[in-house]
Amino acid sequence: MPTDQSLLLVLVLVAAVAVGWLLRAFQARKPQTPAPGLSDDYFRGLNYLLNEEPDKAVEVFIRMIEVDSETVETHFALASLFRRRGEVDRAIRIHQNLIARPNLSRPHRLQALYELGDDYMRAGLFDRAETLFNELSESGAHVGPALRQLMAIYEQQRDWEQAIATAQRLELVDGRSQQRVIAHYWCELAAVASSAGQQRRAMQLARKAQGADPSSPRAGILTGELLEETGDPAAALRAYHGVIEHDPAFAGEVLPSIAQCFSKLGDRDGFDRFLVELRQSKPATAPYVAMAAFHEPSLRSREILGFISQYLKTRGQGLARLLDRLVEQRSLEPEMEVDSARELVRLLLEDHPRYLCGECGLPSNTLYWQCPSCRAWSSVKPHVDPPYAPSASALPEGTGRR
Ligand SMILES: [Zn+2]
Repeated sequence: MPTDQSLLLVLVLVAAVAVGWLLRAFQARKPQTPAPGLSDDYFRGLNYLLNEEPDKAVEVFIRMIEVDSETVETHFALASLFRRRGEVDRAIRIHQNLIARPNLSRPHRLQALYELGDDYMRAGLFDRAETLFNELSESGAHVGPALRQLMAIYEQQRDWEQAIATAQRLELVDGRSQQRVIAHYWCELAAVASSAGQQRRAMQLARKAQGADPSSPRAGILTGELLEETGDPAAALRAYHGVIEHDPAFAGEVLPSIAQCFSKLGDRDGFDRFLVELRQSKPATAPYVAMAAFHEPSLRSREILGFISQYLKTRGQGLARLLDRLVEQRSLEPEMEVDSARELVRLLLEDHPRYLCGECGLPSNTLYWQCPSCRAWSSVKPHVDPPYAPSASALPEGTGRR
């Protein structure tokens, strides 16, 4: 059922169209030829709309176009209204009817083709949408938007090679770099190869991702993981280090892997040395390391305590003093100190999402490389800044990377 708001929208739209039509009628024609038949149809259609009989309204408006091609814009506006009300089938009907008209101007025909493609996307009819957007991308009109829609289709179909080719075409059309997104496409292909046991090919693809976007945390993490799998923890360490160099916000993401690499290398003090150096050279990593210590209980190095203490100071001197007193009073074993500190971080962050989308604000406990809500790439990042308003129950289930 439509809401009051959507009815209001109908009224506003129809009133605007009516005023526009009447103005045109009075300006363009002599006063003695007001085209009364069109006007009657128009208000009959309006009446059907307001009485919630949209199918009859569509019939009337479709008949109108056969009377006067000046009403093409009215049809676009009505189709757009139906689409916004979620009635995509009616929008499809209107756009198909427009395209079928032999005397429709070329610009209007191309616009109707684009809109119909958009209808098909919303209806989940990706094959039909793909055909239309391919036709448009060859036509020279709406090329950029059509290529973007094609990218969305290939993402949906997980056809990453087509997605890369389309993104490269889009770069040529609008001159704006798509390399950040293309790097994600290469990473997707690398992940497919890796899960098929083709580690060498996966590594080549991960390198292509790094070539497309050298600062991509995903490409860096993937390269590190592949190097670990091939038994080269020293090279993996360099890859993980590169991730932190490019974006300190991902320090917490690679920290457990870094600890693991030092352990594989048999370098027991290496992780502590790494942490001391990291804290000095990249103080911006403190909140992310503190977060990682809270989420990853396997991180038990005493040097973590320094990061947590530094993070707590940014949340108020009282918290840092509380931590100092806890440590003093209990004269704890090093590992228990970290546990006490972790407990304080838990009190601060318990109800907070681990990640947040910078585009749409979606909270999650999973690091999505493409936001499942707004479909933006690289927009979801580790979240460390309280306060956070929505309740924890708003979080999607699950943890991990996707
Ligand atoms: Zn989002």
